[in-house]
Amino acid sequence: MVEEFLDDDTGYLTWTRRHPRGFVLNCARNPGDDYLVLHHADCYTIGDGPAHSRSWTTSYQKVCANSEAELQEWARSRTGGTASRCGACWT
Ligand SMILES: [Zn+2]
Repeated sequence: MVEEFLDDDTGYLTWTRRHPRGFVLNCARNPGDDYLVLHHADCYTIGDGPAHSRSWTTSYQKVCANSEAELQEWARSRTGGTASRCGACWT
């Protein structure tokens, strides 16, 4: 099941805490194939660590699912593109 979070930081952070082994697609508010980045839900670059006091779901949209395949399917159907893997959490 894919869940989309836009202007909903609380919902997004709740999801990542409940699904620490899930996946998060970071994309523009109006998603395009030029910016689709796939993260593990516990990636520090999209989490609530001290360096991230800003908002998570206002400049960008977060799309969450329990499998990478679901998010790739979402990216393909919405934008025609393929998400690239974040360099910080896919090492
Ligand atoms: Zn990442």
